Amino acid sequence: MKHANKHPAKGEAVVYWMRMEDLRITDNRALALASKHAQQDGVPLLTLFVLSPQDYVAHDRSARRIDFTLRNLQSIRSSLADKHIPLYTTSHTPRTTLPDYVLSLLKQWKATTLFANIEYEVDELRRDIKLCELAKKDGGIACTFVHDRCIIPPGQVLTKDERGYTVYSPFLRSWIPHLTPKGKDSPIACAPDPASNTPSVRDHPVYGPLFDNTVPDEVEGFTMDDAEERERIRMCWPAGEEAARLMLDRFLHTMSRSSQLGAVDPLSEGAKVPTKNPNKDSRVGKYKDERDRLDADTTSRLSPYLAAGIISARTCVRATTELSANKKIDVSRDTGIGRWNQEIAWRDFYNHVLALFPRVSMGRPFQEKMANVKWESETRDGHLQAWKDGRTGVPIVDAGMLQAKTMGWMHNRVRMIAAMYLTKDLMIDWRLGEKYFMEILIDGDLASNNGGWQWSASTGVDPAPYFRIFNPYTQSHKVDPTGEYIRTFVPELAKLRGEELHKPPPGLADKLGYPRPLVDHDEARKRAIRRYKNPGEE
Ligand code: FAD
Repeated sequence: MKHANKHPAKGEAVVYWMRMEDLRITDNRALALASKHAQQDGVPLLTLFVLSPQDYVAHDRSARRIDFTLRNLQSIRSSLADKHIPLYTTSHTPRTTLPDYVLSLLKQWKATTLFANIEYEVDELRRDIKLCELAKKDGGIACTFVHDRCIIPPGQVLTKDERGYTVYSPFLRSWIPHLTPKGKDSPIACAPDPASNTPSVRDHPVYGPLFDNTVPDEVEGFTMDDAEERERIRMCWPAGEEAARLMLDRFLHTMSRSSQLGAVDPLSEGAKVPTKNPNKDSRVGKYKDERDRLDADTTSRLSPYLAAGIISARTCVRATTELSANKKIDVSRDTGIGRWNQEIAWRDFYNHVLALFPRVSMGRPFQEKMANVKWESETRDGHLQAWKDGRTGVPIVDAGMLQAKTMGWMHNRVRMIAAMYLTKDLMIDWRLGEKYFMEILIDGDLASNNGGWQWSASTGVDPAPYFRIFNPYTQSHKVDPTGEYIRTFVPELAKLRGEELHKPPPGLADKLGYPRPLVDHDEARKRAIRRYKNPGEE
């Protein structure tokens, strides 16, 4: 029923609850629905963000990611205020009473309806179910949770016997027909419509003061104490939807530059070398052939923006249709655009796995038979710490780990190399690597991180076969043929070239103060194959 021009003083409102994975206004399904609902009912739209430090501890969130969240919230607050919509940012502990707390706010604001996007993590699903139950029992507030994170929602792409896919290729084949090229972003509108006779929300005694609420600069326990680190991370990852859109444009329309490796402002003018023929010369144009090159800055670097929902995966895929000849979504293996869209499909795949096989997020290997693989003690010989510090003595692994420290981000290929090195060469439990990546990366995302780790450790859905173990030295030559990547991130090796760079001879390593390899790769490989073949045995 439509209640046009209802006076806000009657105290009804629609609330959109924004979470850590949907930090945007554009193409945000729950927000668009909330806006539409508020417009129809002629009541104010209020937006809420609850900082929950205990959740950040439980999910091993990095201080970098929390800082990124706050910076994005500041940008959103200002964009929403321009539309006369307040963003109320608050904090709550313990996390077990979060539903009660949100309900108390809804009641205080006399809200009739709550909208939010679904989070597929188990604790978050339980929390939202509890809120629905409480809201229904206590006050009859309607809670609507909608799919938004994936291009195609979990549950929509199933096998013939209605199960979730556990292998990527058939998943992709089933996923493609669901794509709709001409999807439309749902715009949000001012609520209430300023053209109506409704008094401004800003003048309302309860809602007006919400505009004075500000986003804090930090969350206790999640601060980057080192000012230099903070500056560097902020430069590498500028906040806001506009920045995300520019990152996408950079990928679709400009050429890659090896000088853009390292901690640089990705949106600086130097990064923008427009191409005459974007389909051939741009990063996306060359993606099919060059995406695994670590020495050339060939990928989009959109993962922090996608993980935090600053840009939607739908928007990214739709943007690629502008470049394709027939204006359709290209998902072929033969073009840069097609290959890139296939990578975005991996993001959907791992989110579907998380939603349909939640045990993967509870520390369990997907392949139960791998639960008993014998791991080395994490403290033995300081191997785990050496890996974290980029001091394994294997240059490509160390460069990757130092890239993570420096930028809070790693190229996909080096994540695979570093993860496989930890789990196969050092035989250290993948869960410790998974946790460390979450603690250090700005794009830490449970579904993709868990998927990547279980792939590398050969324990997951569609994993790397346990006997196919990367040789890090061969990989190094393949993915960093110029050596630019290692030289950028490992200062001791900055003057080396060729084989010496990829595998420094012991004498030279000693002279340069670079560590000798922790283990012999061939020996380690044999040990890994033995232990994976016979889980439980030495
Ligand atoms: P592009 O090559 O430009 O790809 C575009 C987008 O597609 C990415 O931003 C990402 O959203 C998605 N994507 C690409 N590859 C994958 C993949 N293999 N799995 C899932 N999504 C993918 N990605 C995260 O976003 N967060 C993580 O915490 C994370 N942890 C990982 C851990 C390991 C051990 C591994 C092997 C991979 C992990 N990935 C993770 C996936 C992948 O490494 C990153 O998404 C990618 O490196 C981001 O760089 P980009 O944005 O330039 O990617």
